[in-house]
Amino acid sequence: NRRVILKRHVTGFPSEDDMEVVAGAARLAVPPGSAAVVLKNLYLSCDPYMRGRMSKQNRRSYVPAFVPGEVLAGHGVSRVVASAHPDFKVGDHVWGMTGWEEYTLIPNPESLSKINHPEMPLSYYTGVLGMPGLTAYAGLYDVAKPKKGEYFFVSAASGAVGQIVGQLAKLTGCYVVGSAGSDEMVKLLKTKFGFDEAFNYKKEQDLNAALQRYFPEGIDIYFEHVGGTMLDAVLLNMRMHGRIAVCGMISQYNLEQPQGIQNLLSLIIKRVRMEGFMVSDYLGQRHKFEEEMVGYLKDDKIVYVEDVAEGLEKAPAALIGLFTGRNVGKQLVTVTQE
Ligand code: NDP
Repeated sequence: NRRVILKRHVTGFPSEDDMEVVAGAARLAVPPGSAAVVLKNLYLSCDPYMRGRMSKQNRRSYVPAFVPGEVLAGHGVSRVVASAHPDFKVGDHVWGMTGWEEYTLIPNPESLSKINHPEMPLSYYTGVLGMPGLTAYAGLYDVAKPKKGEYFFVSAASGAVGQIVGQLAKLTGCYVVGSAGSDEMVKLLKTKFGFDEAFNYKKEQDLNAALQRYFPEGIDIYFEHVGGTMLDAVLLNMRMHGRIAVCGMISQYNLEQPQGIQNLLSLIIKRVRMEGFMVSDYLGQRHKFEEEMVGYLKDDKIVYVEDVAEGLEKAPAALIGLFTGRNVGKQLVTVTQE
C-alpha cells in the first residue's frame, strides 16, 4: 500500500520534501463486527485547504492538523473492494474523504457519497461533480444570489471552483470577468469557458485600475478565492448592495501573519454584504447538484478542464503547485484507473 505521508509540519510555503511516498502493507479486509468499507483509491483531489492541515496548529481551519509520519487525507474517487456496510457493495464507486494511498479502510462510510452517474468520467467527481463543483453551486445560488444582468467577478477563475462558478454565473445571465495568473489561463477563460472578459493579475501594476477598466460601473458580486491585495482592490469597486461570497483566501494560506486589508469601510458606504461559507454545510444539496450538473455537462452548457498528475509519486508536487498557480484547471492525481 504505497502512501503519501507528511514528514514534518510546515511553516511558510510547503515544499515537495515536506511529504514522502512510502510503501507498507495494505489492509484489504474489514474488521469483524464493524460497518467499515475498504476503498481502492482511483483519483485524489489536490485542494488548497489541505495546506492548513499541514501546519502544526491548524488555527485557520475546522479540520484537525495532519500528524507527521501519517498518511495525508483528502477528497478522492474510489471503488469499494470490501464492505460490511449495508448501503455499500463491492464494486460501488464513491467520492469523499479518503487517504492519499492505494487502499483505505473507512470505519464510518456514511460520510461517502455514492456516484450515481458512472457513465461520466469518474475523475470529474474530484471536481465539477464533487466538492469543488458543489462549492461553486452552493456559494453562487445560496450566498451570492445572482440576478440576470449583474456584474460578476471571480478570482483564481480558471481553477476548480472558479471555472464552474463563472460558467454558472454566465448561465444566470451575469456579465462575468475572471482573473488568473497566466496568459494561457486568460485565453482559456475567454475562449473555452465563455467569460466576457479575463485578465492576468500578475501583469497588472494597479489592481484597482484593472478592475475599473473591466467594471466601469462597478461589481455586483465578487466570488472571493484569493484575499489580500485583490480583495482590497475589489472593495473599492463594489456597487451599492453588492455581495462578496468569501469562498477562500489562498494568498494568505502560507503567511504566518495575514496581510492587512485597508478598504473595509467600503462595506458601509456601499451597503455590501460580505459572507463566508463552507461547502460542508451544503452536503444535503449534493444529489440535486449532481443531477443538475450532469445535465449541464451532457448538454455542453458547462465545459470542464482538469490538470492530471499521473501516479502517487507526483502527488506532493501537484499539491504544492496550487500555491504557485502551476495547475491549469482542476488539479488531481491518478492513483490507478483499474
Ligand atoms: P484552484 O484550482 O483555483 O487552485 C488554486 C489557484 O489559486 C492556483 O491555480 C492559482 O491560480 C491561485 N493562487 C495561488 N496562490 C495565489 C496567490 N498568492 N494569489 C492569488 N492567486 C493565487 O483551487 P480551488 O478552485 O480548489 O480553490 C479555490 C479557492 O476556493 C481556494 O481559496 C480554496 O481554499 C477555496 N475553497 C473553499 C471551499 C469552501 O468550502 N469555502 C471549498 C473549496 C475551495 P492563478 O494562476 O490564477 O494564480
